[in-house]
Amino acid sequence: MHCPFCNMQDTKVIDSRLVTDGMSVRRRRECLACKERFTTFETAELVMPRIVKTNGAREPFNEDKLRAGLLRALEKRPVSMEKIEQTVNAIKSSLRSIGEREVSSKHVGNLVMEALKQVDKVAYIRFASVYRSFENLGEFGEEIARLDD
Ligand SMILES: [Zn+2]
Repeated sequence: MHCPFCNMQDTKVIDSRLVTDGMSVRRRRECLACKERFTTFETAELVMPRIVKTNGAREPFNEDKLRAGLLRALEKRPVSMEKIEQTVNAIKSSLRSIGEREVSSKHVGNLVMEALKQVDKVAYIRFASVYRSFENLGEFGEEIARLDD
């Protein structure tokens, strides 16, 4: 990486060690040009991407909001809290695995729909009807017909 002091490309690692229980690597580097020393940390990026809403506004990913959406769709359905937590975690790991810093709210909605389709068909229809706001009854009928397959 470039030296933050003189911007030269050649830096060498003079020390490397694991920190925070092996969750990151701390590297001591020295610039070959100006001899300045600096430290870098390397960690796996596990942060959730930010959500881009349809109007272009950005907001942090909100796990509570995701859970609330699932709970609303699953109200009075025979689905355990444990299953709901698993679904929340599955959606979160899908979002992380995309590896993007920003993800559209539409994409999150699609992930939720796909997850609900596996968990509970009624909840799926509830969520989809609100989320997609089906443009007409025909489209809604098609969606239900597809479920019967
Ligand atoms: Zn330098």
